[in-house]
Amino acid sequence: MTTQEIADLKKLLDTPTDIVIVPHKNPDGDAIGSCLALHHFLKEKGHTSYVIAPNDYPDFLKWLPGEKEVIKFDQEIDKSKKIIDKAQLIFTLDFNHFSRTGTMEETLQNASATFAMIDHHQQPDDYAEFTYSDVSCSSTCQMVYHFIEKLEETNKISSVIATCLYIGIMTDTGSFRFPSTSSTTHRVIADLIDKGAENALIHQQTFDTNSYERLQLLGVALNNLTIIEGCNTAYICLSQKELDDHQFKKGDTEGFVNYGLSVKGIIFAAIFIEHKAENIIKISLRSKGDFNVNEFAREYFEGGGHINAAGGKSDKNLQETIAYFEDIVKKHQKKLNS
Ligand code: 5GP
Ligand code: MN
Repeated sequence: MTTQEIADLKKLLDTPTDIVIVPHKNPDGDAIGSCLALHHFLKEKGHTSYVIAPNDYPDFLKWLPGEKEVIKFDQEIDKSKKIIDKAQLIFTLDFNHFSRTGTMEETLQNASATFAMIDHHQQPDDYAEFTYSDVSCSSTCQMVYHFIEKLEETNKISSVIATCLYIGIMTDTGSFRFPSTSSTTHRVIADLIDKGAENALIHQQTFDTNSYERLQLLGVALNNLTIIEGCNTAYICLSQKELDDHQFKKGDTEGFVNYGLSVKGIIFAAIFIEHKAENIIKISLRSKGDFNVNEFAREYFEGGGHINAAGGKSDKNLQETIAYFEDIVKKHQKKLNS
């Protein structure tokens, strides 16, 4: 974002207005954390602000301050459309293509509001009047912090805002261990702790939430872990039946894909999860080093994301998807061994 754009947006935010904030479909900690942080900040500045998520999110995000104010588009379509119609300004956070909002896509496309994007994913679309894109940044939450810095209003970061920003930085960096964690990330985190984010408590409230069934499901996933010999690749699959047998709830498979990547020598890991209701296989991809899973997801699985973390989907069945995956992985064998 240029200095001029910052000045323009600052001016726009000087007068109270109707604002909507939107995360991507199946929002994660970074998406919900950044939306709620910005929501609290804008309300503090006197705006009327709404967070409208395309759909629901995991229970482990439901302790976040202000979470109960989040409207779910798929549960309250008419109300959501009315609010979007009235909005002067729409912030889209943690995504950069309208298609990432699922059934909300058309409503956003037809909205007359000014759009502002804050996002750290690769290859942003150009739908927004204000685009703040930084693919090197750890998280959208860190970017929201820098955005508030650019507005010269970090004094408005309350303990509630600090908590919301902390959770997104924590979850998107794998608790501060992925390469996107920079010294600046740590400086931002330090300031958020100073402003009242209770780090140990936030960690507990987010991660110490396992149900017995989720841990049993993890056991099944680990049992299904397969290594593709000679390709430094590992994958996990979970069928709908395996999910049903363990009373699967949204968010239960979060982080499973990382176990594949933790096997010594593995640089590429995937998880394939059957979604009978949508008739798709949802895919998460992770890598270490130069192997670009954003490109891989775009080329083969109608998806995208970051260089080391991306997602996509397949319309084939589970077995066919895995056979297809094994085939294309073998085509990339040289790259996976370099
Ligand atoms: P996850 O595997 O945790 O769902 O997502 C990893 C990263 O890829 C996240 O940054 C997420 O926003 C992105 N991502 C996940 N699924 C998709 C998808 O279907 N399309 C695109 N473009 N990005 C995705
Ligand atoms: Mn993110």
